[in-house]
Amino acid sequence: MYDLAVIGGGANGAGAARDAALRGLSVALFEREDWGAGTTGHSTRMIHGGLRYLLYDVPTTKASCIDAGRIRRIAPHLTFRIPFLWPLYGHEGLMGEAKEALLAAYDRFAPAKGGLQHVRLDPDEARRMEPGLAPEVAGALTLDEWGIDVHRLAALNVLDAREAGAHLYPHTEVVELLRAGDVPGGRALRGVRARDRLDGRVFDVEARLVLNAAGPWAGLVAALADAAVPLRPGKGVHVTFERRIGNFGMILEGVDGRVMFLVPHGAETIAGTTDTDFYGDPSRVDLEVTADDVGYIVEACARALPQAREWRVLRAWGGVRNTVFEWGVTSDSLSRRHEIVDHARDGVDGLISIIGGKLASYREQAQDAVDAALLKLGRAPVPCTTGVRPIPGAEPEPDFVALAREIPLPPTALALVWRRLGSRMREVFQGAGPDDVAPICRSEAVTAAEIRHAVREEGCRTLEDLRRHAHVAAGSCDGLDCAAPAAQLMAELLGWTPERTLAELDSFLDRRWVERRPALAGATLAQEELFRATLPPVRKGA
Ligand SMILES: Cc1cc2nc3c(=O)[nH]c(=O)nc-3n(C[C@H](O)[C@H](O)[C@H](O)COP(=O)(O)OP(=O)(O)OC[C@H]3O[C@@H](n4cnc5c(N)ncnc54)[C@H](O)[C@@H]3O)c2cc1C
Repeated sequence: MYDLAVIGGGANGAGAARDAALRGLSVALFEREDWGAGTTGHSTRMIHGGLRYLLYDVPTTKASCIDAGRIRRIAPHLTFRIPFLWPLYGHEGLMGEAKEALLAAYDRFAPAKGGLQHVRLDPDEARRMEPGLAPEVAGALTLDEWGIDVHRLAALNVLDAREAGAHLYPHTEVVELLRAGDVPGGRALRGVRARDRLDGRVFDVEARLVLNAAGPWAGLVAALADAAVPLRPGKGVHVTFERRIGNFGMILEGVDGRVMFLVPHGAETIAGTTDTDFYGDPSRVDLEVTADDVGYIVEACARALPQAREWRVLRAWGGVRNTVFEWGVTSDSLSRRHEIVDHARDGVDGLISIIGGKLASYREQAQDAVDAALLKLGRAPVPCTTGVRPIPGAEPEPDFVALAREIPLPPTALALVWRRLGSRMREVFQGAGPDDVAPICRSEAVTAAEIRHAVREEGCRTLEDLRRHAHVAAGSCDGLDCAAPAAQLMAELLGWTPERTLAELDSFLDRRWVERRPALAGATLAQEELFRATLPPVRKGA
């Protein structure tokens, strides 16, 4: 019997499993897909304080800035600085002053996350930073935020949890909450029934306490025990442009005045997000991302950078926020605060839920959940160490030229691999020969050695897992170059039959198509649809 069964391997669940295991609890962590595959993997990937939330939710901005600073220190290899420009327009008059006043207030929190104070740039200075600015731009304000590799963040939290003794169940969905019987005032739980979604195996796991960290699915999980969580899910769409457009992020304004972001991320640029109420099934891979969503975001980019209309949109993808319920405000204006719910209030003993919050404060949210778990379990408080204990592989950026004398890869490739593995890359490439370092994915510098590590040590079981863990097909080829050789290598490692390998490849390319489709239009869309229609059934994942 475990002390704690955690449902959901997003930022909150992964962070809670790590924290709980480090505080001495026996932990089982269940994730229906892969670590960070839910909302966490579909976020804007910034650990930002939330400048906008300063207007109506100062405590959340403050907590996010403080926790973002801690995340930067415990995971320096996963985080990177994004200096932002916030364009000022000639016609906006007092609005420009209001923007600067907001930034002046935000400056107070910048030191917590290691950011610089804002600066006001005149039109020439702004254009020297970003020559493509629209003629109407009459200057800019600067601010500092931080980006993060969200999938690696979730995976490395989980790896650390495992190293602290947690048992991991990826691709395993909790399908029932097991009842122990009646207790005064309600029912008690005794664990979970889970189903491995890849091999169909169903099994029970006993636990003294269940933590529901299922993000936007938290309502569905709570309902398994006839309990409820106060959620108001919101859909957010992003687009990915093919190139890294520049080295600055940009604060964008949509046609309706909404604030959005343009964010350089690796070799690509991300823009978004929309924010609308969502009543559907968060598991749907497409989440109905439309060409209109894409147009709305591209137009916001084009207001600041008119050439954005010419940029190639590689893909468009949707995620669902697990925001705490409030009536009478727009989805955009909902607080990003988090809440720990003890379902004793619904007459269910042995179940707590964590809802809401931000990626930027996932560590603190997880800490609050584990504090509540210790209390529920009647354990003495144990200090939380996740704010100071490094994430696996954490180290200051090494000298990649020197490292290239140790590991037979070019310094530029090492810089990319380091962002995924950090110091652990030395173990991954120990004794590596030419076959181990031959590139499988050139744009992301993925080699056979890293794929073997991802499968053997990190437990990847599908090509999608490999994309999240090792960035296979995460570049602009979208898998057309590297998915097949990666699938072949996985087949050798996992003993897949040729049929299984082909089916895996097809389902992987189908997922890529779902994200590419809303970005296409006219003849290109027709041509691609026609091409897909001519593929034999097995090549389409049938
Ligand atoms: C569009 C968008 C942009 C955002 N941008 C930012 C940002 O830039 N910065 C920021 O700080 N925050 C951002 N957020 C918010 C942030 O992403 C979330 O607060 C955070 O990722 C939520 O993590 P989570 O672990 O609660 O949820 P999730 O990441 O969704 O994790 C829940 C997991 O539970 C699993 N699960 C569900 N049901 C079951 C079951 N029955 N059994 C087993 N597993 C199950 C799911 O597969 C999922 O992986 C954004 C959110 C969205 C939607």
